[in-house]
Amino acid sequence: MTTVLTTQDVARLVQRVGLPDLLRRLVSYLESDYLRWAEFDKTPRVAAHSQDGVIELMPIADASLYSFKYVNGHPKNHRFGLPTVMAFGVLADVATGAPALLSELTLTTAMRTAATSVMVAKRLARPDSRVMALIGNGAQSEFQALAFHHLLGIRELRLYDIDPAATAKLVGHLGSTAGLTLTVCASTAEAVKGADIVTTVTADKTNATILTPDMIEPGMHINGVGGDCPGKTELHRGVLEVARVICEFEPQSRIEGDMQQMPAEFPVTEFWRVLAGEAPGRQNDAQVTVFDSVGFALEDFSALRLLSDMSQQLGLGSPLDLIPQMADPKDLFGELHLSHQLQAA
Ligand code: NAD
Repeated sequence: MTTVLTTQDVARLVQRVGLPDLLRRLVSYLESDYLRWAEFDKTPRVAAHSQDGVIELMPIADASLYSFKYVNGHPKNHRFGLPTVMAFGVLADVATGAPALLSELTLTTAMRTAATSVMVAKRLARPDSRVMALIGNGAQSEFQALAFHHLLGIRELRLYDIDPAATAKLVGHLGSTAGLTLTVCASTAEAVKGADIVTTVTADKTNATILTPDMIEPGMHINGVGGDCPGKTELHRGVLEVARVICEFEPQSRIEGDMQQMPAEFPVTEFWRVLAGEAPGRQNDAQVTVFDSVGFALEDFSALRLLSDMSQQLGLGSPLDLIPQMADPKDLFGELHLSHQLQAA
């Protein structure tokens, strides 16, 4: 049987171990998979664009496991009472093709994105970074905030969102976090001033310029999360021009990342090279670094692996009758009669 993990199951799983511990485990799974980069069958995600959003399929496999995520990005969804990003995914056995796990991935995407941001910042941000500007205070923002606080030592967050209610929501959730000071700012420029790290996690299907070159200070690390689709960027190209730019999977990031604004010869480095010691991370204290995050299928593969391991350990999840359980695997037709008999009973 396939195991299904609902949103409630994943919320319970996080409550059992605590979010900081779960994020730590995610970073460790991510690092172990990123170190096996060459073992994966990789492809840019398949996107269906429409006027107000995108729906994407993100497949990846190694020799033993296959995963895919279904995910959307619709920045105007709040008007319909829906989140901008919604997702679910599957982990399957390569040897047989049997789907082992079907899981919610909306909460999980927020956690894996924050864990990925921290994994990269560990190699790119200055080690003495304590102040982070957080631009965009929507659904992803608390996860980014807590990941950088607990795993990287950020002590002050400088917050800005064009929607004051979003910032108030974040302050409501994290205002009493021990050792974390929250400063609400009146503009991006005010939030960014003096920050060691700048996380941009805004949602707008446009070529926005959340960060402009005049806001950039020597030694800053920019964790650009919201520019993740063709025609949807956050960084002025002048910011990229002065920075060392790291991406996940170059063929996908050239189309979807902030670097879509740059010519094909613009130099970028895939993160796995930095992790493997094949390429440098930060080269000096004054260097400006950018993680042009778009979200790569490998990160969901790692997250699904962790969910699978933890749900088994904690006894969470339910069996789902997704694939027929047949006494004779050649007698699929017999299943129709069985279903019919069950209905009639
Ligand atoms: P959300 O809609 O819940 O929040 C986005 C926030 O950005 C909103 O509060 C909005 O008011 C704010 N905003 C929009 N324009 C702004 C501006 N110019 N200045 C300041 N704030 C602004 O969305 P979310 O789920 O938090 O996702 C945020 C972004 O991150 C989306 O674009 C999403 O596609 C992207 N994302 C990327 C990854 C990744 O792996 N890179 C993963 C998940 C989400």
